[in-house]
Amino acid sequence: TLQKHIRNFSIIAHIDHGKSTLADRLIQATGGLSDREMKQQVLDSMEIERERGITIKAQTVRLQYKAQDGETYILNLMDTPGHVDFAYEVSRCLAACEGSLLVVDASQGVEAQTLANVYQAIENDHEIVPVLNKIDLPAAEPERVREQIEDVIGIDASEAVMASAKSGIGIDETLEAIVTRLPAPEGDREAPLKAMLIDSWYDTYLGVVVLVRIIDGELKKGQTIKMMAAKSEHYVDRVGIFTPKGVAVDVLGPGEVGFFTASIKEVADTHVGDTITDVRKPCETALPGFKPSRSVVFCGLFPADADDYDHMRDAMAKLRLNDASFEYEPESSAALGFGFRCGFLGMLHLEIIQERLSREFDLDLITTSPSVIYKIHLTDGTMIELHNPADMPDVVRVDHVEEPWINATILVPDEHLGAVLKLCEEKRGIQTDLTYAGNRAMVKYRLPLNEVVYDFYDRLKSVSRGYASFDYDFDVYEESDLVKMSILVNAEPVDALSMLVHRSAAESRGRALCERLKDLIPRQLFKIPIQAAIGGKVIARETISALRKDVTAKCYGGDVTRKKKLLEKQKKGKARMRMYGKVEIPHDAFIAALKMR
Ligand code: GDP
Ligand code: MG
Repeated sequence: TLQKHIRNFSIIAHIDHGKSTLADRLIQATGGLSDREMKQQVLDSMEIERERGITIKAQTVRLQYKAQDGETYILNLMDTPGHVDFAYEVSRCLAACEGSLLVVDASQGVEAQTLANVYQAIENDHEIVPVLNKIDLPAAEPERVREQIEDVIGIDASEAVMASAKSGIGIDETLEAIVTRLPAPEGDREAPLKAMLIDSWYDTYLGVVVLVRIIDGELKKGQTIKMMAAKSEHYVDRVGIFTPKGVAVDVLGPGEVGFFTASIKEVADTHVGDTITDVRKPCETALPGFKPSRSVVFCGLFPADADDYDHMRDAMAKLRLNDASFEYEPESSAALGFGFRCGFLGMLHLEIIQERLSREFDLDLITTSPSVIYKIHLTDGTMIELHNPADMPDVVRVDHVEEPWINATILVPDEHLGAVLKLCEEKRGIQTDLTYAGNRAMVKYRLPLNEVVYDFYDRLKSVSRGYASFDYDFDVYEESDLVKMSILVNAEPVDALSMLVHRSAAESRGRALCERLKDLIPRQLFKIPIQAAIGGKVIARETISALRKDVTAKCYGGDVTRKKKLLEKQKKGKARMRMYGKVEIPHDAFIAALKMR
């Protein structure tokens, strides 16, 4: 392929604005697939991805398009993951393209997630073609949205394509815009191989498949390549492209996007953003911007039925095969038995893994309270990174605690702004900016990540009736007055329920949690105190009263033997309960308690 006939592009869109529909139309129009194959949307192929309308893995499709100038072009469509949790993966996809289609629902307008991705595309020097989609809808206001794109994003939208992906309007115009308005890739075929690892996954037949974008040089079967960050070498046994079906090719040159296999054992051996070069003739410098993947949110996952432990371990290993950003290690808890401590890129990633474990592996799981990484500075001058509140060192050893903060951007229609501001203040947020674009407010807040991971996203959606959109990036670690709050049931700490909270919020959270547990834990033959405590100090307390203290109350008068028997029974029962030394907390009580934080 001639380099000047290649166009690499991604589609930037907010969820539901029509990215998948448009991609399918482009594939169909260029004859990549038959109508029957088109029946199911090609992109978003995994079941959960399709249901949730999000992409988790980067995907690529090579299209052949005969343009109006009579030339045939190769268009590589890169589908990027669609959620803040996968922001780094998105950034690498964008770095692999020269341009983007910015798809905006003409009846909705620009959303926060879109903005974040557009700014990244601009940073990657992308040429951007706005596509106003859903112009078939009566509520579509393409003129207003066109102005909004210019006002909010600051790019020229005068030549935006008017489209309805659903009814097939504007598809040819979109293809022409890609060819005429996006630049061809640069790159030197004679130079040493330099390619970027965009994504990788495990294929039952092929093993680990690596998706790459060639920057310079050539990638061929039989070559020995080196991954510069991973510092590993591999013999390439297959090179190919996706049409979207995988097809073998002899060589991939500058500007091309394709895959290779090289008997790589695990996806975990490959790192998104890594630079791939030729062992014999290596390039001098690696590509900029490589970041090792790092878990942000941690929680414990335990099988509800202890007999499922082995099955669960196998299931986790299978998921990890295909998702190197999911981390886990064995953990045991007094209350929950044997399970795993897991790390995730964010809350959505956590939910997806949880959902796959229950759906694909039929596992019934208990999740402990999600936590971020805290930096605990000890009085002896050392610092530890704390992933699990249960491991918090004794207060006397702790000098101070730092927690991570984020910069959040929220877009919300004016009428819901008040509710959103209130929510952010409640979550210890600090407002840094507030601007308007039409009747939409764009508000920026600094927020502690630990306030966001619990229920911020759900709360935001509910206080704005679903209209607010949210995006964030990491800011810095800052010292904070955080304390470990333990929950004690019958005087025993329940590890899975302990958490780090800001001192100002501890009492109200503690009280709410105790009240909730009181309703959720069934009464027993003895009184059960439920307490929230910081260090040795109880800050909230509830008591579950005993179930029928006096079992003899029913036996009026006489029958002493029967009375004695009943008292005997009761004593035994008490002894047995106490012998276990703890109260059985029903699993649904756990889950409900965890949900409320
Ligand atoms: P994505 O989340 O951006 O991938 O969006 P989808 O392509 O899955 O589309 C979301 C919804 O919008 C689906 O129900 C589509 O059928 C619908 N949709 C997509 N494009 C159009 C369009 O041009 N007009 C109308 N009326 N609906 C559309
Ligand atoms: Mg989609």
